[in-house]
Amino acid sequence: MARFNDKVAIITGSSNGIGQATAVLFASEGAKVTITGRNAERLEVTKKLLQDAHIPDSHINIVVGDITQESVQEALIKTTLEKFGKIDILVNNAGAGIPDPQGKTGVNQSISTYHKTFELNVQSVLEMTQKARPHLAKSQGEIVNISSIGAGPAAQVANPYYSIAKAALDQYTRTAAIDLAPENIRVNSVSPGAVATGFSTVSRGLDEQKSKAMYEYLGSQKECIPRGFCAGPEDIAKVIAFLADRNASNYIIGQTIVADGGTSLILGAHAHGARMVEAI
Ligand code: NDP
Repeated sequence: MARFNDKVAIITGSSNGIGQATAVLFASEGAKVTITGRNAERLEVTKKLLQDAHIPDSHINIVVGDITQESVQEALIKTTLEKFGKIDILVNNAGAGIPDPQGKTGVNQSISTYHKTFELNVQSVLEMTQKARPHLAKSQGEIVNISSIGAGPAAQVANPYYSIAKAALDQYTRTAAIDLAPENIRVNSVSPGAVATGFSTVSRGLDEQKSKAMYEYLGSQKECIPRGFCAGPEDIAKVIAFLADRNASNYIIGQTIVADGGTSLILGAHAHGARMVEAI
């Protein structure tokens, strides 16, 4: 039997990247999925990928909208219950680094950028968790949040509010896990490193070609990604599935699994170690 048979999952940010791959993986393994994002055309792409994987329309629910809007959050819960009758899994994946309108970095980034970044990467997760909670308590369900190795401990001057938001999300994951454990709801998270998705085009404003070149370059530099390649969205979807699968990860709560090909294990000094010795 497929591991998500009879399971119902809401996957936010599933019009692209990691969320899209997660929706296809979950549905291929039996889940009924609610897919969502602001971009209706890209959601149709996700729907097509699901159909190509022989997922019937009766297993697909689509909500178009901005996850920071309460009406959209409510529609996600309401339409999922109407179409599928319950909610077993909530994947809080929608997220992005919001570009500063004046291109500022570091401590000079605007406060409006801070608010928008937190609204998306933290507040919407809190709100979706509150709204899904009674339904997950009923089904004894799972929450998987998508964080980032940007949360630390390395500093992130280029996009500080994004990394601060993901650090806040990590603490929320731990807190929610303990708070919801008595209701038999498990909460965990995944912290990806570099993953070739739309993230760089949306968050960093790169065009597709530059984005592809950046991911290829990162993957080819062992001091950036010791594993030797940049992850694809499917690599992260598999980790999300592990945490959403109670049979596989029942005893794990409040943890963040780092999936970064070793990026966060390398210090600059290590990367240059051999050359430093040669230089002396
Ligand atoms: P993508 O840009 O490819 O996908 C992001 C998804 O989030 C899209 O479906 C987008 O949909 C959705 N989204 C963004 N803003 C909103 C919004 N306001 N309302 C509703 N949906 C929204 O990026 P990834 O797949 O890479 O990102 C997924 C998660 O992974 C994010 O939380 C990101 O922070 C995290 N992550 C990514 C890394 C990477 O290198 N790619 C590294 C570490 C973490 P739409 O545009 O249709 O609204």
